[in-house]
Amino acid sequence: MRKPLLIAIVLIFSFVNRLAAQATGPGGEPYRHGLLSQPRGAFIKNTTGKELTGSPADPGFSGQSGTGANIDVVYHRVNWTVDPRTATNIIGGSVVTYFKTIAANVATITMDLHNNFNNGSLVVTYHGTTCTRTLASNILTVTLPSTIAAINTLDSLVINYSGVPPAAAGAAQGYQQAGTTPDKYTGSLSESYEDRDWWPCKADMQDKVDSMDINVTVPWVTPADTFWVASNGRLYDSTITGNSRTFRFRTRYPIASYLVTLSVGKFTRYYRTAYANGTAVQAAYYILRNTTGHATKTAAMDKVNVVLDSLSRRWGDYPFKLEKHGFYDGLIGAGGMEHQTFSAMASGSMASLSTLNHELAHQWFGDNVTFATWNDLWLAEGPARFAEIYAAEKVPVLGYTAADVHTMRTGLRTAARNLNTASAWIPNANMATSALLWANPYGSTVYERGGMVITMLRALAGEAKFMEAMTSYQTELAGRSATTDSLKNHFNRALGTDINEFFRDYVGGSGKAAAAVGGVGHPTNNMVWNSPSANKLVLKVNSQTQSAGSNVTYFNGPVAMHFTNAATGWTKDTMIVIYDWGGGNLGYAGNGLSEPIPGNALSFDLSFTPTHAFYDDSAKTLSSGTITQDPAFMGYTWDGTTSAAWNTTTNWVNTTVPPSGAQVAISTVTNQPVLPGTITVDDLSSTAVAVPRWELPWIYTEPLA
Ligand SMILES: [Zn+2]
Repeated sequence: MRKPLLIAIVLIFSFVNRLAAQATGPGGEPYRHGLLSQPRGAFIKNTTGKELTGSPADPGFSGQSGTGANIDVVYHRVNWTVDPRTATNIIGGSVVTYFKTIAANVATITMDLHNNFNNGSLVVTYHGTTCTRTLASNILTVTLPSTIAAINTLDSLVINYSGVPPAAAGAAQGYQQAGTTPDKYTGSLSESYEDRDWWPCKADMQDKVDSMDINVTVPWVTPADTFWVASNGRLYDSTITGNSRTFRFRTRYPIASYLVTLSVGKFTRYYRTAYANGTAVQAAYYILRNTTGHATKTAAMDKVNVVLDSLSRRWGDYPFKLEKHGFYDGLIGAGGMEHQTFSAMASGSMASLSTLNHELAHQWFGDNVTFATWNDLWLAEGPARFAEIYAAEKVPVLGYTAADVHTMRTGLRTAARNLNTASAWIPNANMATSALLWANPYGSTVYERGGMVITMLRALAGEAKFMEAMTSYQTELAGRSATTDSLKNHFNRALGTDINEFFRDYVGGSGKAAAAVGGVGHPTNNMVWNSPSANKLVLKVNSQTQSAGSNVTYFNGPVAMHFTNAATGWTKDTMIVIYDWGGGNLGYAGNGLSEPIPGNALSFDLSFTPTHAFYDDSAKTLSSGTITQDPAFMGYTWDGTTSAAWNTTTNWVNTTVPPSGAQVAISTVTNQPVLPGTITVDDLSSTAVAVPRWELPWIYTEPLA
């Protein structure tokens, strides 16, 4: 039954049967509202329900190798000696480690170090006494001359070592020589397990070293433009002594071992000032002197300094603003690597805005907040991939057109959809080696699918809530590590509701686990819409199917639709994002996220009458879909044809009595409804106010015309 609506005033009501008001989420769990009232410490939890402290004492969490389980690494003072001209790529020096015991009676300490360094130069001392040590399976085991009895004891040991790092093998790069005489140079790329290939460390993102001093001695060769050193933190001294020169860096921000870097080469240095939301930040560009195109490269990096400011305003200040930001040339084995405070770039990528922006974004996602285990690598690569496009959209000086941004967005979505057999989250079995970690499909899903997860979080949350969640994640977890659940919790808090099912469906895991639960594939949504009267829009989900091979029975998440007043060349249009909670429950999204509204129908007040609809034509979500107009679809619209009785089907345009909680339109027709005793009005709004219904005051009354 359908009748035309020729009504001057339409009121939209939401009715809630108070007896049935305890809505439940997917899986039958009550939706958790009011999360803001929970204390911070109780809120940010890992998958085991404990607070993620970054402490290595956290059982169930440790570095991949399990080294250093009885200590918390506090400080390293590293002294390296490097001559890039040598034939053998030898590296040597000493690593002083200050640590705090986190167990009683510490008698042995283990560190990660490659077996190549098992030679006579490997000498470990404790308070000046040489220790017994073994090096096997890339783990250095040091037996202390005396047991450290008390927990929380601050102590130290010194590791002297020298040797030749292993050769690069695919994704495992480590520390290598490159270039030709007289421009030979050395460089490092430790992600994921190749830090141990060139220096002894505790490779555990949950135990970042709190601060480091890095001293590197290199040959001093005239003419003056001789070897320079690229490393983390602030360079504060480069004294020349005879035929050598020692560069001294210090960093006072917590740093994961795989983000420590060392490169020695003949760099031309360019210095700038970037600004992080008003704070001046040193920007340094080191470009190998024997390369061309320095002006083009520095111009690109100058533009990226504007991105640093833009991201600071959206995600919280650049995390290492008191030390430096920058890029150095000559990365071997990848296009870019986000070494903390100083990203390495392949020579051919130094002018690539997308690669520069990607590495810059990692300074927040990956460096400041690091994944607690490699399972959650997507927490770094997803936001960084997303930021390539986000920066293109937000920072005009980069020079991208709207069409460019659209192409980048659809490219990301297509790439993610083409990876429909694996999750963004990585299972334990694929974490044993760098070769496994970075092999497909996970070596691609962490970027493409991960990038789309962030894109969808932005779509469902809207700009303000998206920035709120990203910023709180960055500021509250600064210098620490996180799991997928950590990010979820920050979005839950910003949104005031629980989107756990979204993370299950699109990410598939959090922390260590053997297999993904969900996270594979994407939905195809068939949407139905109609405009029952002027400036009105109603829509519903007609059906959802899942892509072949998906392990998700129903995808909960955002659905983005574009409504216009013409097929082409429209003069009015609007983007509508809803959230499909499953089970016929829909929510308003894209400007915060509403509670689930039962009844599979949502109504919108627009500033124009839509005539055409397009399914997600700006690639905001991973889903594919269709959207079709059904002139018979009116949502739950009262027309009172038969009587004033609420529960009489023929009084409703679609001959369906709305379920509890459904959104209802009541027109001023012959019979106005008389509510039965079990129904109360929850929210009442007027179409005259063109903002989403849930943002209105609790009640808004206006005389009926
Ligand atoms: Zn990356």
